[in-house]
Amino acid sequence: MKTNKQYTLPSLPYNYNALEPYISEEQLRVHYDKHHVSYIKGANSIFEKLENARREKKDLDMGSILKKLSFNVGGHVLHSLFWENIDPKGGGEPSGKLLETIKEEFGNFDRFKEEFTRSTMAIEGSGWSALAYDIKTEKLLIMHIQLHNKDIYPTFPILMVLDFWEHAYYIDYKNEKEKFIDAFWNIVNWEEVNKRLENTMRV
Ligand code: FE
Repeated sequence: MKTNKQYTLPSLPYNYNALEPYISEEQLRVHYDKHHVSYIKGANSIFEKLENARREKKDLDMGSILKKLSFNVGGHVLHSLFWENIDPKGGGEPSGKLLETIKEEFGNFDRFKEEFTRSTMAIEGSGWSALAYDIKTEKLLIMHIQLHNKDIYPTFPILMVLDFWEHAYYIDYKNEKEKFIDAFWNIVNWEEVNKRLENTMRV
């Protein structure tokens, strides 16, 4: 049976000011309440448009509709992952399976951090930096996600994301975007990232 389920804004697992000084309350409010919400509204309104067109047997410009839909759904999914993989009590170094896997792949944690930072700085325009995992080769992969939906490894589970759109840091860091990456390392929720890895490996 067809459901009427829609995307909704997930609640933030901490207060608006909890990530200070790394992410200010003002920055987080704009990012979460305005930007994330706009992707949810965007995705839901496209589903509505599709439904109306199907009911009224009308044609839509599918190329543009699908592009917009994947952009908005991607934005919603990635922001939802992002809020959960940062935390006021985060930072430091990972442990457990995650640390073990990072060491196997990158040699040590510092090398991973450096590669992830450099990869993030290499993003052109608006995009995300992500850590993904390939179950087949048991490899960790760093990837760029241009906008919210391009350049991904299809179906590779995402363990950690860093939103590197200007809207994610501009109020706090202006053009000094590397400072935002430094800040990110102080609030990464390694427990959550480790949990995602363990869940992925269990499948
Ligand atoms: Fe964002």
